[in-house]
Amino acid sequence: IIDIKDIKRNFPLGSETVYVLKGVDLQIDKGDYVALMGPSGSGKSTLMNLLGCLDTPTSGTYILNGKDVSKMEDDELATIRNREIGFVFQTFNLLPRTTALDNVALPMVYAGFNKTERNERATEVLKQVGLGDRMDHHPNQLSGGQRQRVAVARALVNKPSIILADEPTGNLDSKTSVEIMNLFDEIHANGNTVILVTHEEDIAAHAHRIIRLRDGVIESDERIK
Ligand code: ATP
Ligand code: MG
Repeated sequence: IIDIKDIKRNFPLGSETVYVLKGVDLQIDKGDYVALMGPSGSGKSTLMNLLGCLDTPTSGTYILNGKDVSKMEDDELATIRNREIGFVFQTFNLLPRTTALDNVALPMVYAGFNKTERNERATEVLKQVGLGDRMDHHPNQLSGGQRQRVAVARALVNKPSIILADEPTGNLDSKTSVEIMNLFDEIHANGNTVILVTHEEDIAAHAHRIIRLRDGVIESDERIK
């Protein structure tokens, strides 16, 4: 589903260039469950943004579902992203003045579904993540774990082929983290490809494969299940 060859990503910084990804090769099959680990600054988020079509590489190729997305223009990339990718962030990134239901339904607006279809599907995924009784709540009326469930529901709403999560438990206590990870386990069991970033070994242990990044290159890639 993902085939990356010799990806590099540099950022201009004033008159300097910051070399972040220095040649990453990576294949991920449909249905895999991957934890991406590595020290702060090693390039995990940079790689996730590339995987999620939020960014394009400086050089190298990224084939996603058979399509080369590495040189696509922004609007074409946005279409692929909306169809293929569900992204979950550490800080939830929910709209504060919007109900859980409308937050979850938002990606379907961009995908062109009508309101009835949106409400039906958003209700379905909110029930799936255990928030059937919280649909009309605003984010500030929800706990951290519930907010992250809303974000997971939003990531699932367009039935993407890949779920990406950048430190999804980074702002949660350990009990709530386990609950969110059980949800990712379920999502994986339903046939989704799941890739998540974490600093914690016991979170990574939920995955079936652990990839460690160091200083912009893959240091190790180990199948654990
Ligand atoms: P953390 O575990 O702290 O989240 P990370 O592995 O996710 O770290 P990245 O966010 O990918 O690290 O950043 C890797 C390096 O790239 C950092 O040194 C960062 O300063 C640099 N970097 C990232 N984005 C940019 C940018 N837009 N411009 C300049 N430098 C950047
Ligand atoms: Mg990061």
